[in-house]
Amino acid sequence: MKRATIEKARRDWAVTPNLLDYERTRAEFSWDAARRALEGLPGGGLNIAHEAVDRHAAGPRRDRLALRFLGKRGETRDFTYARLGALTSRCANVLKRLGVAKGERVFALAGRIPELYISALGTLKHGGVFCPLFSAFGPEPIRQRMSIGDGRVLITTAMLYKRKVAELRGALPGLKHVLLIGAPDEIRALPGTLDFNQLMAEADDHFVIPPTAPEDLALLHFTSGTTGTPKGAMHVHQAVVAHHMTGYYALDFHPDDIFWCTADPGWVTGASYGIIAPLTHGITSVIDEAEFDAERWYGILQEQGVTVWYTAPTAVRMMMKVGTGVIRKYDLRRLRFIASVGEPLNPEAVLWGQDAFGMPIHDNWWQTETGGIMIANYAAMDIRPGSMGRPLPGIEAGIVHRRKDGTVEEVSAPGVEGELALRPGWPSMFRGYLHEDERYRKCFAGGWYLTGDLARRDADGYFWFVGRADDVIKSSGHLIGPFEVESALLEHPAVAEAGVIGKPDPVAGEVVKAFVSLKAAYAPGEQLRRELLGFARKRLGAVVAPKEIDFVASVPKTRSGKIMRRLLKARELGLPEGDLSTVETETEAS
Ligand code: AMP
Repeated sequence: MKRATIEKARRDWAVTPNLLDYERTRAEFSWDAARRALEGLPGGGLNIAHEAVDRHAAGPRRDRLALRFLGKRGETRDFTYARLGALTSRCANVLKRLGVAKGERVFALAGRIPELYISALGTLKHGGVFCPLFSAFGPEPIRQRMSIGDGRVLITTAMLYKRKVAELRGALPGLKHVLLIGAPDEIRALPGTLDFNQLMAEADDHFVIPPTAPEDLALLHFTSGTTGTPKGAMHVHQAVVAHHMTGYYALDFHPDDIFWCTADPGWVTGASYGIIAPLTHGITSVIDEAEFDAERWYGILQEQGVTVWYTAPTAVRMMMKVGTGVIRKYDLRRLRFIASVGEPLNPEAVLWGQDAFGMPIHDNWWQTETGGIMIANYAAMDIRPGSMGRPLPGIEAGIVHRRKDGTVEEVSAPGVEGELALRPGWPSMFRGYLHEDERYRKCFAGGWYLTGDLARRDADGYFWFVGRADDVIKSSGHLIGPFEVESALLEHPAVAEAGVIGKPDPVAGEVVKAFVSLKAAYAPGEQLRRELLGFARKRLGAVVAPKEIDFVASVPKTRSGKIMRRLLKARELGLPEGDLSTVETETEAS
């Protein structure tokens, strides 16, 4: 940014944005310096929960509100840093008492309730690996992830346990402890479970974090590829350096901020930015248990005095449908920065933000594997609507082409489409896919991490999202692997073959659509279609299950038996079916 513009930005802003001079900040940035902005464990080492909670609980921000929970039924529960410090210590002591070893996986399956956040931070304090599961998952995605992740402990609610997990216990022999949140009587009636709140009440408020090293595993986040089972992306404690730094530059956190990240911690955004990043800055996070409702959301922005808001394109599009008129009823003067992530943010949505809130919506880009924001539009930088912005300090992004022999070449000319790639080495980069070294190795070539996204870079270094290089589906911001959905459908006795695609949708971005061919004894019909929709929904849960099913005589496949999802999609959209030989060589790696 030019000096005059920087001076103008200083005058225009209620607070001075943290990133004013992009080029200079990048040039002067070092990860070592970013690491020094954190405290580190007293005896050496690094622990996410120490940076997020304990150092504030022991410092001048101890009485500041860390988390404010807005319950579905209108109740509010507040936690200061001091209280959060004590409760997360109790949770760590509970895990210690149960004999959970360092590095063992503690899964959580719950809505956005305080116990989920306490469990996440308590697990990190204890040295366990925290793995959140989205509460709307059906039993099958839960079983798969818990068995791949060797879940030792599960923390969930009595209701979710009864509905989704009890039937799986036999299939999860490694699961030693199930801790339930709920009424004591209800929990007592469920064999093989423990009462989370009772254990917490019996535990001590003090816990000394064992010396976790920066490279010790901390978080396991599942994500989906085109083929195979879900992938468990492993993250380490020093990811917190990136969470903190990106909170500062990409979300422009200032010490008095009230922050609201609308993402669920079942997904990486809800963990990195819904839990960790704001706490490392000692600011207040608002957490809403309820699902999207435009008026409720504007009410929260107003009543909580939210200053920085991190949301998602699907939510923005839903707000656009409701219109700007309703927003005028609310006093949103405290709001100063809006960011969005997870799917392409249409240029109209960026501009709509300007009209509706008096400020544009700042798109940023990252993925489960990167652990934190990699490319962003910054508070003080001109937005190019439709662009994801420019790489964070410390992040080098490029556009590459894969050659047939598996090597890659960087494309330096602006405007050329290719695969978005990042130079490895940032602290929140995933350290592997659990038990899948080969799959991990395939993500790297020529000194780049290959993201699986297609993009362009313009002459000024702004990146523009083009699409996915593979067949994964993004529906309402949730990444869904078509293979998972196809496998579930194949378990129905009527189904011979299934092919699943993402069908473009004006609000959700994409919706899951399945094409199914039937076994000889079955005939297509409305009743069977409904039965299959219900069957998939029960197994997979509402977010993953197909919304539409079409019957087809056969599902197109390559000679090697791979489902030609792109052909299904082209047919669905009435597009030219194209060169089938290219369809046959589509990326299989992810
Ligand atoms: P996940 O790992 O579930 O967070 O999904 C990551 C994927 O979401 C990326 O690889 C992209 O395909 C997509 N994505 C994330 N942010 C953006 C964005 N700002 N614009 C377009 N696509 C995005």
